[in-house]
Amino acid sequence: MKTLQRTLTIIKPDAVAKNAVGDIIEQFEKNGFRILAIKMLEISKHQAEQFYAVHASRPFYSSLTNFMSSGPIVTLALEKENAIADLRKLMGATNPANAEDGTIRKKWASSIEHNAIHGSDAEETARFELSFFFAGYELAK
Ligand code: ATP
Ligand code: MG
Repeated sequence: MKTLQRTLTIIKPDAVAKNAVGDIIEQFEKNGFRILAIKMLEISKHQAEQFYAVHASRPFYSSLTNFMSSGPIVTLALEKENAIADLRKLMGATNPANAEDGTIRKKWASSIEHNAIHGSDAEETARFELSFFFAGYELAK
């Protein structure tokens, strides 16, 4: 039996500004992810701080939360078998200098901070991140 898993992804402000939204969503669909929900929005600095609270002690926290609240983002709830790991593989390494060919960050990221896309890194964070952006009734059956 297939065990489906859900993950939360964010197309970050740099990628939205580069008109990369369509290309990135096409990558999700081509790689077997089912879109359960999608929304475009802008978040405040405070909301970015809540979302990235796990990084509060990191030196890049302030810069990261300024960046994430600097313009529109697109968030999606995605589903497939092994979605969390498979999405992170499709994203590529955090630093685009280390990202493999064919990954989203290789194509669209311009720096370790302006790296085009976010993906949940574990089941517990996926649950938190999905509920941060989507109510249960907003997810496709
Ligand atoms: P994400 O959580 O956004 O999917 P990630 O899991 O690959 O990315 P994390 O270590 O969780 O990477 O860092 C979160 C985000 O913080 C990165 O995606 C990047 O935008 C930013 N970041 C990470 N390391 C640095 C750094 N050294 N300098 C500046 N920004 C950084
Ligand atoms: Mg992370």
